[in-house]
This record gives sequence, structure tokens and C-alpha cells, in this order.
Amino acid sequence: MVNEDNYWIERWGDGYFHVNSKGNVSVKPERGGMEGDLYELTCSLVQRGIEAPILIRFNGIIQDRIRVLNEAFQRAIEEFHYRGSYQLAFPIKVNPQRHVVETVQQGGASFKIGLEVGSKPELISVMASDKNPDSLLLCNGYKDIDYISLALLASKLGRQTLIIIEQAYELKLVLDASEKLGIEPRIGFRMKLSNKGTGRWQSSGGEQSKFGLFSHEIVACLEQLEAQKKTHWVKLLHYHCGSQITSIDAVKKALAEGVRTYTELASAYPSMCYFDVGGGLAVDYDGSKSVADSSMNYSLEEYARNVVYVIGEACLQAGIPDPIIITESGRAIAAHHSVLITEVIDVTSSPPMSEKFEPPSDHDILTTLVSMHEELSPDNCREFYHDVMEFKERILQEFIVGNLSLKERAFAEKVCSLLIVRIRQMFRQLSEFREEVEVLDSILQETYFCNFSVFQSLPDSWAIGQLFPIMPIHRLQEKPTHRAVLADLSCDSDGSIDCFISQKGTNGSIKLHEYRGEPYYIGIFLTGAYQEILGGLHNLFGDTNVVHAELGEDGQWEFSSLVEGDTIEEVLNYVQYNPERLLSQLHVLIERALKIGQLSPLESAQLKKKFKQSLESYTYLVV
Ligand code: PLP
Repeated sequence: MVNEDNYWIERWGDGYFHVNSKGNVSVKPERGGMEGDLYELTCSLVQRGIEAPILIRFNGIIQDRIRVLNEAFQRAIEEFHYRGSYQLAFPIKVNPQRHVVETVQQGGASFKIGLEVGSKPELISVMASDKNPDSLLLCNGYKDIDYISLALLASKLGRQTLIIIEQAYELKLVLDASEKLGIEPRIGFRMKLSNKGTGRWQSSGGEQSKFGLFSHEIVACLEQLEAQKKTHWVKLLHYHCGSQITSIDAVKKALAEGVRTYTELASAYPSMCYFDVGGGLAVDYDGSKSVADSSMNYSLEEYARNVVYVIGEACLQAGIPDPIIITESGRAIAAHHSVLITEVIDVTSSPPMSEKFEPPSDHDILTTLVSMHEELSPDNCREFYHDVMEFKERILQEFIVGNLSLKERAFAEKVCSLLIVRIRQMFRQLSEFREEVEVLDSILQETYFCNFSVFQSLPDSWAIGQLFPIMPIHRLQEKPTHRAVLADLSCDSDGSIDCFISQKGTNGSIKLHEYRGEPYYIGIFLTGAYQEILGGLHNLFGDTNVVHAELGEDGQWEFSSLVEGDTIEEVLNYVQYNPERLLSQLHVLIERALKIGQLSPLESAQLKKKFKQSLESYTYLVV
């Protein structure tokens, strides 16, 4: 059942995540297939010494996403009697971690999945791979002569390399490199669309976008190739109008403009055989099925049907063969497959509530608050609400000018908090005063401190307000009673999450269970696209522990690989601190302190040992 207490999991979980009968989150790596318990998986990792934060990658989900996408296109091809085929290429910028790229290659082997690279380092990272050696290799991004030469040489290893000209200057480099190496390239053009996408990344499309060629530049490139009798090199037309396209209308508009260009080019240059519509297929992070930035108003099937139908119809009318359709769907392949597990380490404490009050003085604020507490009833609760809000301000003012002592302030605040809790309860029972309840909710909201870094693990949440589904992964049979925001370990007020999925779209807090000082794990879902690679080293929290989990045939979790998170030594090296040098500096300080008797020999040994141990330890908190 989809309800608030289950955090809308059936809406955004997309068949991969559910709540099981034990009240834990369960994962079905293959939609409709076997399921495994995420909480039990987390506990067994912790027992093995793999502490939170842990990023769990589900290889099966990647495989399932590739299968689902290919099947959707295959169905559309059959339905519309499309005479060409479909080819999926994974843009490795979405998650270039070796284990992820290899999982994509493995999971997509039967569909001959290709790869898209957007830079020289990305090309080098996959060029030597022996997986799917004859699959497509799309070379995008800004290029220099070395990038182009490498791409040409890669084709000699059997790769179906396509060099996509994004800037007009690149054609000359291709001509030069080809002549020098004696290798004929297969090239494509990336066109600049006049139509923009929708959502946050819409500026990747449109005339002001930084990528792609204007029509006059494509025409000029073709004239150059004609002059050199090389037009047979041209194989592909590509556009990309931004990631996370939230509206199907924008997909259709881009298609209309792109396919018009393709049919004209392919009519004139019959060597053309690929039409690459880029990425942009969105992910419904909030499950609202809307055009909100973190959602999408269409399904994967609708996307595939539109792409296939529009291209097929246009080619039929133009009397040209249907091209091989390529999509560079990155987010749609990778987002679902990883979950970040973090552990709550503390909660902001609200003042202890007792029914009996002993005011530390007979200050009029204190005596009035105590009598309000005694007299509060459904009849006067609205008036008392206004009074308490006023008192909250007065308490601070009186404290600042010295009319209230620290003890008196503490007592007054405690009574105010209790009154607020009781007034909110009465408002709710009366089913009235919704606005006031919201104000009281925000006053009573608590902060749950979690062992992770937003900057490292959820950069898009911090930088662009991207929504990710967040929920506890256990205790889901228990009603969550505390309204909270999440704070990370970083010393930065931005290192927090205060926007959560709700019925209305978003909510400034999330309902969590009472923190009892025992392990309470929170999962942050759909983090597999872009987050890991964009994450930064703010406060020197490095990469988290990463585990690849698969469900065995017996329904038990198996771990295919473990990538240990960064140690303090590793992140220090990254910012040019040499651990050996740090140790010798420490040695000098220790000797100096020993000499003046500030440190005992025993303390010096403890200090050295702790320092060394810490260098080798995980950057996150040991809970
Ligand atoms: N192709 C190109 C050229 C891109 O720049 C991007 C990312 O923005 C993608 C594909 C992947 O897009 P998405 O992850 O939205 O599928």
C-alpha cells in the first residue's frame, strides 16, 4: 500500500524497492523476481566490519534497466514495423567507476551495448577493455589531436568507433590525424537544437548551448568533406537536449527538429546510418509522474514508442532507409542501482518533559507559563498558541538584557516546548488550524545527525536541490513520530537535507522513528547516476565503502566486490600531505614536549600509536 508511513516507496521504487512483512525495505534486483532484505544485508555487512556509510550497488538492477530499455524499443520496433534497429550506449560520465562500467558491459553484452565517452581520460579508461570488443564506441566532447588519434587507433582494435564532431575546428583535426595514421574515420555531427529540453538541464539544448554545430557549420563541414571526397565518412547525426527531460512534449519537439535534419542529410549522403538522440530519458525520483524537476510525465515505453514512431514515419516519407537508433540513456540505466546507507549518530535533544514544574524563581514569565500549562484546554488553545509564540520572543529579549538568568531561561523554554507539543496535539484533535500546525511542526522539528557527507555522496542535493527518496530501511511497522531534517558530518550548514518527497511534492521535514541510541539506518535511494563522480572532498570525507550485492539462487545475498572507502591517509595524499612527513613532524613535536616534561613517555607512545592508526582508518565516524 502506498502511504506516507511507507515514504511513497511504491511510487518511486519502480518495482525494485518495497517494504516486506518484517517492516524492512526489500530489494528486487530483477523486477518481479526474487527479493532480498536490505536491512539484513546492511546488518551482515556491518558484522563483517564494513561500516556505514556504505554505498550498496545492485548489479542486477543495472542489468534489469538495460533489459527493460531494450525490450521497450524492441516492442516499439515491432509495433511500428520499423525497418532499422536500436542500439543503447552507456555514457560513462554518469558513473565511470570501473565496477559499474564493467557491470553495464556484462549486463548489456547480449544487447551489444555500446559506450559513450566525453573526454580523453574517459576514452582511455575503456579503450583497453576486452568486454564487447566490437561494440559501439561514441566519442563525444571537446577533442584535441591526441583524443582523435586514439579514437582512430581504437577502431583498429575492432571497436565500432564513431568520432562525433561537436565543434567546427575538430573536422580539420580528424582530416589531419586520418592522413597521418592512414585510418579512415567514421564520423558524426552533433547538431545544436533550437528546441530546449525541460527541467534543470534544459540549457544543454537550445541555440545558446555550449555544444554542437549550427546548421551552417554542418553545411560547411560537409562542403569541406565534399572537396576532399570524404563524405562517405559521415555515418551519424546526434543531438542531446539535456539530462532529465521531464516532459514528453520536449522529447517530441527535439525529435521533430532532429529527424528533419537527419532525413535531409541521409538523402544527400547515403553513408549515414545512425541517428543518435542522446540522453535525457528521465528518472521519476519523487514518483509524482509529473513535470516537476525530479520527475517525468511519461513512461519509458512512451519514450521508446515516440522515438521509433517519429523516426520511422519521417524516413518512410523521405524514402530513405530507417537508421539504427541510438540512445545514450545514462541516468535511466544507472540511477536505481545504488543505495547509500547511513546511520543516525545523534538527534538534537528536546528538553526533557516532566509534568511537575519547580520554577527556579517567581519571575512573572515563569509563573504565567506554569499557569498556562495548568489551564490549557481545547477552548483556549488558540489564544494560548498566540501567547506562547509571543513568550518565546520575550524570553530571549529578557535574557539578553539580563532580566532572566540562564536557569530561568532554560525553565521557561522547557515549559514553552511542552505547551507547544500539547497545543499541537489539541489542534490536530480539533482537525483545525492547519497553518498553525505547520508552524508548530517546524518549531518542533528535530535534527537527525547522520554519518555521511552530502558533498561527497549527494552533491546534486546540495548544488541543485535534486530530490532523492529517503527513508529508514527498518522499523517500518512502527509509526514514525518525529518530524526531522537530516544533517551530515560536515562543518557546513549546507550539509543537510531539508526537502523530502511528500504527497504534495515536497516537504521540509521527514517523519522518522524515535532514536533509541541503537543502530537506526536510513537509506538514500536512486543515487547511482552522477552522484559518485561529482562528489567532492569537502571536510576531507572521502569515498564511502562500496559493496556490489547480488541475490544468489538460494535467495541469499552475495557480494561480488568490495571497494573499501578512503582512509585518512588517502585523502591527505590527495591534498598533498605526505603521511611520512606528517609523522616526522609529529616526532619533532613529541621530542620537544618530552624534553620540557609536558608529555610523559607513555603518553608519547599512545599519541604516536593513535596517530598512525587514524591515518589508516576510515574517514567517517566509527559509531
Ligand atoms: N549524452 C550526452 C552527450 C550528455 O551530455 C549526457 C549527459 O548530460 C548524456 C548523454 C546522458 O544523459 P542522461 O543521463 O540524461 O541519459
